[in-house]
Amino acid sequence: MKKSAPSLSRQLGGRKDGLVELRRDFHRHAELSFQEHRTATVIAERLAAAGLEVRTGLGVPAGGGGGTGVVGVLHGEQPGRTVAWRADIDALPIAEAVDLPFASLNEGVMHACGHDGHTAIGITLAELLAEHRKALPGTVVFIFQPGEEVVGGAQLMINEGVLDDPAVESVLGLHLTARDPVGQLIVRPGPSMASADFFDVEVRGKGGHGAFPHLSVDPITAAAHILVGMQELVSREVPAQDTAVMTVGEIKAGSKANIIPETAVLHGSLRAFRREVRDQLVERLGAFAARIAQAYRAEAKLRLVGEPCPAVHNPERESAYVHQCLHDAVGGEAVAEGRPVMGSDDMSLFLQARPGCYFWVGVAPPDKEPQPHHHPAFEMDEAGLPVAVRVALSVLLGRLAG
Ligand SMILES: [Zn+2]
Ligand SMILES: [Zn+2]
Repeated sequence: MKKSAPSLSRQLGGRKDGLVELRRDFHRHAELSFQEHRTATVIAERLAAAGLEVRTGLGVPAGGGGGTGVVGVLHGEQPGRTVAWRADIDALPIAEAVDLPFASLNEGVMHACGHDGHTAIGITLAELLAEHRKALPGTVVFIFQPGEEVVGGAQLMINEGVLDDPAVESVLGLHLTARDPVGQLIVRPGPSMASADFFDVEVRGKGGHGAFPHLSVDPITAAAHILVGMQELVSREVPAQDTAVMTVGEIKAGSKANIIPETAVLHGSLRAFRREVRDQLVERLGAFAARIAQAYRAEAKLRLVGEPCPAVHNPERESAYVHQCLHDAVGGEAVAEGRPVMGSDDMSLFLQARPGCYFWVGVAPPDKEPQPHHHPAFEMDEAGLPVAVRVALSVLLGRLAG
């Protein structure tokens, strides 16, 4: 396959416009997690037209719906390994605030994390490699995963056996990043993205008239003390060398100024890099909330919501290998280790199931202050898309050959 690498690069050169057009098409038709029906149809049609074996209807949540996961299998005609390439395909419930000619037509839904780019990159990779099937070693399993933004798609597809038939030996993938300029690549060994748990703390009191608090048990006051006090769990209980973030992003309580409600609920999330730290904080938050509530004659219960998402952990060997490939593809200075990110990604579940690596590719717009991912004015420099395909080809081809 080495011989055909230059011709692959040449072909990629001819596909740049198509790659950008494809990304814009997904951007225009942004779809929420587990509702990516049009996106899945486009992916499946393109993969089938390129001659891949296509499986659709994957990623079905327990309550039904979904089924928007797609897998395409490409068998090379030379001996080699079986490697998966994972791309996530969902958008976010955000009203787009950038005036683009290809702005989202789905009101209130926007690709503000770059998954439109991930989808277009995955399809382009599959099409390029399919044209070189004769010289291609091994087998590539292209996994197009729904429901990343709500954490859930990865585990469903793993449970559905996407890594088992054919038996995948390693999993690779990339996330575009608007924090770094085009040409900058980041691969970080060890923990590179945090774990995520979502939680509710329900504080139960006794309702009544706002003028007679002594006859009630006020859950709002208790919840307020829990919220302030829990800020110290990280600073006082987690070793300074470790780190974690606990954020309450939503509080629900009450209906009127002069009514003491029965309950107050804090909704929050917890991020950490090490499992021990995460477990410690879950245990302490539950005990802390219960005892503070007790001091106010109320009751508080901690409940974890949804499936926990573990930290993204890139094994040393795989990261060193990917680092070398990126270095060879673009030159040394463009590849950095970066810093661990407190955000989360359920690529971590694929990396728990198989060795592999998740790396970052810069797409920061060149002449303006980049907006963070998940921001209504998020934008990318599309010049980073062909760079992503080029480095992904280098990493994949190396891994397939051994
Ligand atoms: Zn995101
Ligand atoms: Zn993302």
